[in-house]
Amino acid sequence: MKAAVVTKDHSVEIIDKEMRALKHGEALVDMEFCGVCHTDLHVKNADFGDVTGVTLGHEGIGVVKEIAPGVTSLKVGDRVSVAWFFEGCGHCEYCVNGNETLCREVKNAGYTVDGGMAEQCIVTADYAVKVPDGLDPAAASSVTCAGVTTYKAVKVSTIKPGQWLVVFGLGGLGNLALQYAKNVFNAKVIAVDVNEAQLEFAKELGADMVLNPMTTNVEEEIQNTVGGAHAAVVTAVAKSAFNSAVNAVRAGGTVVAVGLPPESMDLSIPRLVLDGIHVVGSLVGTREDLKEAFEFAKEGKVVPKVHMRPLEDVNDIFDEMVSGKIKGRMVIDLSL
Ligand SMILES: [Zn+2]
Ligand SMILES: [Zn+2]
Repeated sequence: MKAAVVTKDHSVEIIDKEMRALKHGEALVDMEFCGVCHTDLHVKNADFGDVTGVTLGHEGIGVVKEIAPGVTSLKVGDRVSVAWFFEGCGHCEYCVNGNETLCREVKNAGYTVDGGMAEQCIVTADYAVKVPDGLDPAAASSVTCAGVTTYKAVKVSTIKPGQWLVVFGLGGLGNLALQYAKNVFNAKVIAVDVNEAQLEFAKELGADMVLNPMTTNVEEEIQNTVGGAHAAVVTAVAKSAFNSAVNAVRAGGTVVAVGLPPESMDLSIPRLVLDGIHVVGSLVGTREDLKEAFEFAKEGKVVPKVHMRPLEDVNDIFDEMVSGKIKGRMVIDLSL
């Protein structure tokens, strides 16, 4: 079967890969779609260590073709997801207290185990979250990573209906954060981006205020007009956005970090202490979070913007990603 694997020279090659036999508790999935994420770019560039030979992909959607002995949570014909949180140990403190994505023995699809950018993928049945009937599988692929990541981040921000949430970075993650915040959490949303086209799109999606830091002092504007946001979700990959977020929230506000610039952020200790600011990191979402994120997408509250591409386009997609040409989410359609 065809699979997109990482090569030694930081590229991706489509090869014919032999599937191993299923082990107890596993299921074989015929893949339909797999989104291409910025994290895949880091993986193939060996930014998290060399994983030559691994099959990429953690936004995979497919249909169960075969189940091994011991599988009770899935049956043949079920549509399932292949997510970055591929499997936890199931018994550590994090796995049992609702923070399974922090498991120290976590397996990640398309990084430490073969992922979904292939014609077939083997999943650990108990960890493969089912896609509800009625949700478009291509849209589901984006929810599997970008959707659940932003849904969880808004959840972690503890925003309440009617409160102000500011989203920094309105790209693939940010526009979903905006939709979850507006349509699921009933928050008022301020969209911040340096790209006018992204801000226009944010307006179309219902943003209550859009601000461009190239032309506006975002922190002052938010403090002056709404008294500071109750929370901020930062999906941008610029350190400056993180610093702005800390200054854009009101006393007692929460800043949720999702984007991953490699630097440190500046955090004024007096601001942190005297104004009781919370700063918290949020990493993807648990199986339960993904289930919830799928349900809201199924209800039409969140609509990912996806573009279908054949598997052979994968290196072109990464080139487009590097040059900032991508709008919405590129999704590999395994039937093309
Ligand atoms: Zn991802
Ligand atoms: Zn664990």
